[in-house]
Amino acid sequence: MNVLLTGGAGYIGSHVLRALKSAGHECVVYDSLVKGHRRAAGKKLVVGDVADGQALRKALAENKIEAVIHLAAFIEAGESVVEPDKYFRNNTMIGLTLLEAMRDCGIKKMVFSSTAAVYGTPARVPIEEDDRLAPINPYGASKLCVEYMLSAYAAAYGLGIVSLRYFNVAGAHPTGEIGEDHQPETHLIPLVLQVPMGKRPGIKIFGDDYETPDGTCIRDYIHVCDLADAHVLAIGAVKAGQVKVFNLGNGEGFSVKQVIETCRKATGHPIPAEAAPRRPGDPARLIASSKRAMSELDWKPKFPDLPTIVQHAWQWHQKNPNGYGDK
Ligand code: UDP
Repeated sequence: MNVLLTGGAGYIGSHVLRALKSAGHECVVYDSLVKGHRRAAGKKLVVGDVADGQALRKALAENKIEAVIHLAAFIEAGESVVEPDKYFRNNTMIGLTLLEAMRDCGIKKMVFSSTAAVYGTPARVPIEEDDRLAPINPYGASKLCVEYMLSAYAAAYGLGIVSLRYFNVAGAHPTGEIGEDHQPETHLIPLVLQVPMGKRPGIKIFGDDYETPDGTCIRDYIHVCDLADAHVLAIGAVKAGQVKVFNLGNGEGFSVKQVIETCRKATGHPIPAEAAPRRPGDPARLIASSKRAMSELDWKPKFPDLPTIVQHAWQWHQKNPNGYGDK
């Protein structure tokens, strides 16, 4: 299939791109390169903003696109609390621009990057897809708005949509050739690994007074390559007029302190850590049930254990101490 990936030069997008190519799809990356990296994008790159509907239509038509994987977004829950406009403009509004462009070009298939943040503070874990949707930060709200638009477009115009709700994506390609390079970095695992890289003296734990066994937030970490594989399966599962939703995680939660300890073991570095105030917009505990993805998509994670996820991330950072070196 001819597939266009918005945000395909980003961390997740570049791994999805590789997985799709290995499965035989023809891929075009559409990325503004504001956050993405040229080196991560492969040869077929259109530099453009999803907000630019005309440029987008041109890219869709010229490349005879049959399906879109929509990854382009701002992704920092903490930042979204202080700059909500950025999130509703860049995540929600561009979702509508993309849907309109797809409608004009007669493209009926989409896989959407959604997030566990749509659940807010869950009433129970592991979270199932039909559980209550109640985001507690603008990031989750901005993505949930797009999910609502997707449902409306599927019903009205016969689009087929698969929405993938990612839990905490981490790790890097086992080759060490592509990995995570956010400027500035805000995610836990790459930040912790900056300590043994000599880039920061220690790590701050955002809140150690949560109602969890060690007081720190619990998250479900998923290897970026396992996440990428789910996109390949999802694109094959798109059905006209239907929206399917899948959680993607490993069904096991790790606290911030447990993640730091895993990084200490992987790197052999003491990694000093100190408690700091809670970060606004953080739920205490997010753990996925991915049973639906396993049964309906036949998704099987290859790297479900946290030490492997951290090991692959560590390998990438050691090989690429300055990331892609382009920012
Ligand atoms: N976190 C932390 N210190 C940091 C960065 C993150 O304690 O320097 C915590 C954060 O509060 C959350 C968890 O680590 O509980 C995962 O945060 P991340 O930003 O990686 O992902 P999110 O859960 O926001 O998608």
